[in-house]
Amino acid sequence: MNSAYIYLQIYRLFDNTTPLKFDCGKLCQSACCQGDESGMYLFPGEKNVYRLLNCDWAKVEKSDFTYSYNGKTKNVPLLVCKGSCDRYERPLACRIFPLTPYLDKDGKLQVIMDPRAKSVCPIAKELDEDELSENFAKRVKKAFLPLMKNAEFRAFMKTYSEYLDEFKKFF
Ligand code: SF4
Ligand code: SF4
Repeated sequence: MNSAYIYLQIYRLFDNTTPLKFDCGKLCQSACCQGDESGMYLFPGEKNVYRLLNCDWAKVEKSDFTYSYNGKTKNVPLLVCKGSCDRYERPLACRIFPLTPYLDKDGKLQVIMDPRAKSVCPIAKELDEDELSENFAKRVKKAFLPLMKNAEFRAFMKTYSEYLDEFKKFF
């Protein structure tokens, strides 16, 4: 199956589920979407969603962040927007923010407050994962468990978790 369809199914978990029960953008003027050009990393295979949607509010670029899989170096794609989007087309990273998947030292999937969010997001500064709206963290885990069955996704997650470790040192 084209990975786009897998992500489109996962996206639906977050169509009506948000970190808080109200629009948290009102707390911070949507700080996570500010900036002339915001970029969110796409997870392995997710760029196929944007090939399929051909949306006019974002472009996919190659980032400098890389991981290795099957002896090849792969650049992580970045979805670049201009601070507004079609809510139903936004990428997984935006849907789960300020949470993120993370592999602990035993290689087990955890869902943590994204250490990169701590400098911009009032939720990430003030709350723990289990204080978010009911089931939000559980839904994030539910989204990533099937993706973790894919070998390339696991390879990406290992590098991504090491990358998050660098931010965790500061927060
Ligand atoms: S920065 Fe945090 S509180 Fe503000 S809109 Fe984004 S997720 Fe919500
Ligand atoms: S894609 Fe949408 S939700 Fe994500 S950063 Fe851009 S405007 Fe914000």
